[in-house]
Amino acid sequence: MLFSELGLSAKVLAAVEAAGYTEPTPIQAEAIPHALQRRDILGIAQTGTGKTASFVLPMLTHLEKGRARARMPRTLIVEPTRELAAQVAENFVKYGKDQRVNVALLIGGMSFDEQDKKIDRGADVLIATPGRLLDHFERGKLLMTGVEILVIDEADRMLDMGFIPDIERICKLLPFTRQTLFFSATMPPEITRLTEQFLQNPVRVEVAKASSTALTIEQKLVATQKEDYAKRETLRKIIRSQDDLTNAIIFCNRKIDVASLFRSLEKHGFSAGALHGDMDQRARMTMLHNFRENKLTLLVASDVAARGLDIPAVSHVFNFDVPIHAEDYVHRIGRTGRAGRSGKAFTLVSRTDKKYLDAIEKMLNTKIDWLDGNVEELPEPEPGEAREEKRGGRKTASGSSSRRSATTRGGSRRGSAETREPRTVEQEIAALGDEQPEVPAAAFVVATEDLPAVVADHADVEVAAVPPSRVAPSPRSRAGYDNGGRSGRGSAQSDDRSPVGFGEEIPAFMTISTGF
Ligand code: AMP
Repeated sequence: MLFSELGLSAKVLAAVEAAGYTEPTPIQAEAIPHALQRRDILGIAQTGTGKTASFVLPMLTHLEKGRARARMPRTLIVEPTRELAAQVAENFVKYGKDQRVNVALLIGGMSFDEQDKKIDRGADVLIATPGRLLDHFERGKLLMTGVEILVIDEADRMLDMGFIPDIERICKLLPFTRQTLFFSATMPPEITRLTEQFLQNPVRVEVAKASSTALTIEQKLVATQKEDYAKRETLRKIIRSQDDLTNAIIFCNRKIDVASLFRSLEKHGFSAGALHGDMDQRARMTMLHNFRENKLTLLVASDVAARGLDIPAVSHVFNFDVPIHAEDYVHRIGRTGRAGRSGKAFTLVSRTDKKYLDAIEKMLNTKIDWLDGNVEELPEPEPGEAREEKRGGRKTASGSSSRRSATTRGGSRRGSAETREPRTVEQEIAALGDEQPEVPAAAFVVATEDLPAVVADHADVEVAAVPPSRVAPSPRSRAGYDNGGRSGRGSAQSDDRSPVGFGEEIPAFMTISTGF
């Protein structure tokens, strides 16, 4: 199958060719012809399948005719996270390069005024997170009656984040005659109900079973003791043993653990960064940019923060924690083995994780192999033994492993980590506990490095953060899980971050006008 057989416009085809893509992926081949015929689509596909282009390309073809009117966007894409929204905007830049398409990005953490201006000018494409979109609507700045195409992306993640009431509300604000393109990696009952309510006679396009994982990913379980220091030690060993590791994402269940694991890896001389939902927009974008540019080898992340990251060549994924929601396992390991590349995914498992592992294996309908023996075979650690293990680990850390040199950032940090007097395990744990996370909850991080291209091209970028008191904690956030700082309808609040911290220096990339 060729792109030219799908019915896309000549300009869009030229842009696809310029992007270097020759053959459509299965979701593109199946969804694009139906989308061009203005059918509603229910796309069951995870990230990494090329699903973004499966809606961006037909939308661009459709948008070639007609013009946007002030405050009346012609199409609307709703995304669960700001990163994902920004990435979709980048796709419009990439594939819409030969067209005049006004894209407005309405995401939290950016000033309303700039976003208002973009809407006033007329947007062909509005890409928004649910809370911020509804806030604009409630301020009377946005008319939804002109929306011809609605895209709901990553619906199952919207569910996880408590956005379903917002989505229902948004759907009801749009004209009945619109076309709806709806994407979800999995189909829990709440999502099925939503599709029954808001899609009209949809074409169902399923590229892989919701619970399936890419065949190109080699998956392994790694037995570990449950204590954090033991898990960190296990993680370091496994990272060092991977000669083919070029870059990796390490997932933690809780954002506090993202921060402490990141600190620990840095201390041990690894080139690492962190990404979680409490980081402000600019810090997240910078971190991602540095990871994409290979300035960082390891990225420690929470599920929400990493959702939808488009990093084409991640060689490894490590699950520092077994995910509590089995579906997250699929999303996490889907960060590697993308677009036909091979990848490796290692999941650290302690005895207490058994029920979560069982749920994952049940969902996958297969057993995942252990790397070096089942966790049940692991001896119970003696307190003294754990200390020796720790010291042993440090000895290894200061050795001259080739893997290590590939993952360390620089001499001085490495030197200090290695020459420091050994601490006891207890001291080590106490020290980690005392350390403030690099990016504490609700702190504002000033990014000092280059911004991603999409931001740099539109350099008046704005970043702001929400006063913590405005965000009502959801059950997940209360438990320390990373929900991106949102909580149900509180999403509007948490998206709505009044400017503090950066003053005049704040950047904004809410609207991207592509070339002519
Ligand atoms: P997505 O599932 O939309 O996150 O896309 C995953 C990755 O596949 C992105 O890096 C895309 O740039 C890439 N991609 C999209 N379409 C194609 C294609 N037809 N051939 C090869 N790679 C593609």
